[in-house]
Parts: sequence; C-alpha cells; structure tokens
Amino acid sequence: MGATRILDRLGRPLTSLRVSVTDRCNLRCQYCMPEQEYVWLPRADILTFEEIDTLVEVFSCLGTDRVRITGGEPLLRKNLPDLIGLLAQKTAIKDLALTTNGVLLADQVSSLRAAGLPRITVSLDTLRADRFEKLTRFKNLDAVLRGLDMAAAAGFDSVKVDTVVIAGVNDDELVAMLEHGRRLAAEVRFIEYMDVGGATRWSMRDVVSRQEMLRRLSAHYGPITPVDDNETSAAPADRFMLPDGTVFGIISSTTEPFCRQCDRSRLTADGLWYRCLYAPSGTDLRGPLRAGVDADGLEALIAETWRARDDRGAEQRLAADDRSPLIPIETLQAQPHLEMHTRGG
Ligand code: SAM
Repeated sequence: MGATRILDRLGRPLTSLRVSVTDRCNLRCQYCMPEQEYVWLPRADILTFEEIDTLVEVFSCLGTDRVRITGGEPLLRKNLPDLIGLLAQKTAIKDLALTTNGVLLADQVSSLRAAGLPRITVSLDTLRADRFEKLTRFKNLDAVLRGLDMAAAAGFDSVKVDTVVIAGVNDDELVAMLEHGRRLAAEVRFIEYMDVGGATRWSMRDVVSRQEMLRRLSAHYGPITPVDDNETSAAPADRFMLPDGTVFGIISSTTEPFCRQCDRSRLTADGLWYRCLYAPSGTDLRGPLRAGVDADGLEALIAETWRARDDRGAEQRLAADDRSPLIPIETLQAQPHLEMHTRGG
C-alpha cells in the first residue's frame, strides 16, 4: 500500500513532520525562552501517545516518512520510550529522530535506543560552563556533555549537535564545537539565530550569517567545500566538508531561507498543526480526533489543508524592511502557540 503523495501550492510534498510532545522546558535559553513567566498549554489538551500514533499514521498515508520528536524538552514527557516504540514500528516512517537539550539524556539514552530510536540530535550552544549558565539560566552543562558522550557511544545511526550561533555570545566557539563533534563522530550543525516567536531579544545585529561562519572556519581550517547531498536535499542544513573530510552543516534560515524546499510541518503537543514556523495560526487536529472523526476524515482534512499551503515565512521575513522581534511579548502570553518552544523548533 503506497502513500498518497500530496503537494502544496508551491509543489512541496508533506514529507517531514515534527511532533512536539510537551511545551515545557527545563532550560531558559535566551534566544528561545528569555522571559520569567510562561503560559503553558492545559494538561487535558496534551495528546496521548495513542493519539499521536493515530495522527502520525494518518500523515504517513499522505507521504510523511520523516518524523522528529521535539518539544519543549521532549525528555520531560513521561515514558517517552513508549511513544518511540510505537513510531519505530511504522515501516512507512523511514527516518525517526529526536531533538533534545540533553539535560536528561544520560538517564534515558539507553531506553530510547532500546525502544528503537535510530537518530538523535542534541542542542548544545557552548562548551563553557559559565556561558552555558548565562545562556540557559541553568548550571547543567556537565549533564548535557555526559548525555552527549553516552549518545555517541550508544550505537545510534547518527548523532548530531545543533548549535545556535549568536554574535558576541558563542561565535568564538565555532572551531571548538567542530572539534568536539569530530571527537564524538557527531555532525555539528550551526544554526543562524532566527526571529521566531519567543525570540523576544532578537536583533539582526546578533545574527552570524552563514557566509560569515564559512569565512571564519575557512580562515582556520583552509578551503571548505560544499557537500552535494541529493538524498537530503529537502533537509534544512547545507552541508560542507573541511579539508580533512569532517562534515558539518549550516542552517541559514535567517539570511538564506530554504522555504522553496520546505517540506516540514509541525504538530504541537496539544494537536495543532502548523505548516510554517512563522505562521500565525494552525489547524486543530485534536478537536476532530477527539470528536471521533476517523482516519479517512482526518486524512481528507490534512490533505485539503496542505494543498492550500503557500507559506514562505522565512523568505517574507527576509524581505521585510523592519526586522525587529517577530511577536511582542504580550501577544505571546495571550497566544502561547506562537512560541517556538510550543511549535517545536
Ligand atoms: N528542547 C529541545 C532542544 O533543545 O533541542 C527541542 C526543542 S528546541 C525549541 C528545538 C531547537 O530550536 C533547538 O535546537 C533550539 O536551539 C532551536 N531554537 C530555538 N530558538 C531558536 C532561535 N531563536 N533561532 C534559532 N534556533 C532556535
């Protein structure tokens, strides 16, 4: 039984789904959750694992074959390996991965792996304890590094490290991060600082562009060559190779957006479905699911909505004359679904 492949108005398939399992986080990264207080999603609205499983099944019938578990911090969700176990059984899902800040990883890595998780990404922005605390408001760099070490030794198909690069904060650690990744055989991906909802302190001055990252890295390592990567052409990271063969990625959503290839959508922990990180609103899938709409009905709703998609949020932001933080704090407090940590990053 093949999936029905559907395309949006710009010809983009519904290939990749990010599933947020909680909006809660145990860090307060200054580029994502810099405020003191947050409004959380009501607990009763949070999808059960069975509900997530049902929705992923419906998406897979429409061509989704890449699923990434995210949050908030996904490892805060109780019994997460149970969900991994359900999703890992789906033969239609060719690529299952999880993104974590790593704080709780050391304790959970073996059960995640045993449940069938093939790939993991650890978000890590600095290797310096003082900076980690300043950046995240918590003191657990050691725990993250331990979790990452254990992930590197756990036999995953791939371990990646995602680093948001911010001018004057951690942009002097590009080489250190690459060296750390190389020691662990983990591919590092540098992410440009994005003006998404939640990044209330964002300023263009704080963005280190992909060009600038490449300039600095080639000044240190010598010539850097692009990796021609047909297989993952819809992936957000452009990949590059150092003269010694080390491969790394850059996700340049801010200065060189990849909207034209964007095949991603996002399901929040309470079942709202977003077709763009920048979209002001999403589609409620929890309501119909809990009202008893069957798989065919959900499939029809998702297909119809995807076919109407013409979002190009990051490109539109790039074209905007006035680039200040996207959404004011008062609006975020009234509408937590606009937050990056609710949408799943
Ligand atoms: N807690 C998990 C983690 O830390 O990986 C998953 C959720 S987090 C929102 C997903 C990713 O979004 C992280 O790699 C984080 O660094 C990234 N992120 C959050 N705010 C960002 C921003 N303003 N610009 C770029 N990346 C951002």
